[in-house]
Amino acid sequence: MLKAFQQWRRRRIIKRSTITSEQWSQAFAALPLLTGLTDKDKQRLQELAILFMHYKSFEPAQGLVLNQAMIMHIALQACLPILHLGLQAYDGWVSIIIYPQGFLPQHSYMDEAGVMHEEQDHLAGEAWLRGPVILGWEDARQAGELDGHNLVVHEFAHKLDMQNGVANGYPPLHTEMDRETWVAAFSQAFAHFSERCQSPSQTIDDLDCYAATSPAEFFAVFSEVFFERPALLKQYYPDVYLQLSLYYRQDPLSRLNRV
Ligand SMILES: [Zn+2]
Repeated sequence: MLKAFQQWRRRRIIKRSTITSEQWSQAFAALPLLTGLTDKDKQRLQELAILFMHYKSFEPAQGLVLNQAMIMHIALQACLPILHLGLQAYDGWVSIIIYPQGFLPQHSYMDEAGVMHEEQDHLAGEAWLRGPVILGWEDARQAGELDGHNLVVHEFAHKLDMQNGVANGYPPLHTEMDRETWVAAFSQAFAHFSERCQSPSQTIDDLDCYAATSPAEFFAVFSEVFFERPALLKQYYPDVYLQLSLYYRQDPLSRLNRV
């Protein structure tokens, strides 16, 4: 009953959307990341994005002026990873805060001696457990160009990872997936990749060695590569590619190969 009501409510939100088909065409055309989607998947993504824009709050910071096209650009990229997971994968939080460029977060924490420490770092984005996603518009705008780097996919992959607690590179797997196979694929790839990042001549193409900083960053960075440069990921880490395709229920390589 509740589910039927939710379905009805969602259909109504989608039906009432005032975004024109021309606006959608432009938004899709601006994102090579979405190349090769079937008409059915395009429709599904568009509807997910409408619901996402309805339920989430887009909050500009530092004088940034947000328009509809910018919001759609972010929403489409954020919804691609959940295309076959559903919007509930992003339950439990609401805000997406967008800065004009990278921002200067100030983290403070208290150590055992009771001393407060301030950490400052120039970041492009952040995802907080049960809190907001923070993005720099400059990086979000340039994401989706199939160069292997995608700030939006990165931060939202952290959100998926946080569905079962702190980000640790282990999101809740589907029942048909095997935990041990996932852990083996990711830990072997993480060890191998981290070792190659030790020496500049050994790094793989321009895969971001930031992935080697923790299993959580490995999952987020390799999710970017999965969607943006699937052929490279499959070539070097086929087991990780397979696990990610089971998790996201997508096969970006055959999708991009279709065109
Ligand atoms: Zn990260």
